[in-house]
Amino acid sequence: MYPLGNPTCLFCKIVDKQIPSKTIYEDEQAIAFFDVNPKAPLHLLIIPRKHIVSLAEMKEADQPTISHLFGIAIALAEKQGVSQAGFRTVINTGADGGQTVFHLHLHLMAGRPFSWPPG
Ligand code: AMP
Ligand code: ZN
Repeated sequence: MYPLGNPTCLFCKIVDKQIPSKTIYEDEQAIAFFDVNPKAPLHLLIIPRKHIVSLAEMKEADQPTISHLFGIAIALAEKQGVSQAGFRTVINTGADGGQTVFHLHLHLMAGRPFSWPPG
């Protein structure tokens, strides 16, 4: 249990299936699931199985993970039929960045227009 994880981390518990999630995609490195408190009609979270705290605390050797997460986001956006209308991908980092769960995650949001700059 928790081969790559942190027993106090919410998203490690989701990876470990100790906390249920509505999973939409899984592979050896990552999983994607629906955000429990969606900020858009489609709101998915794409996370590495490995417990990486944030972009700021990420080791260089883990950086290919970012590309992998974005690849999944692109594929899921296509599969969910939102690629053409558009979507937003966000990674919040640290307190000022709005990060509340300290296990790296990529938000994929779609189904409504988004404003710029974000709040
Ligand atoms: P952030 O503020 O970038 O750290 O985003 C954390 C996200 O995790 C928020 O959008 C929450 O709604 C979402 N979240 C928190 N708990 C859960 C959960 N148990 N299952 C799915 N999403 C969650
Ligand atoms: Zn974790």
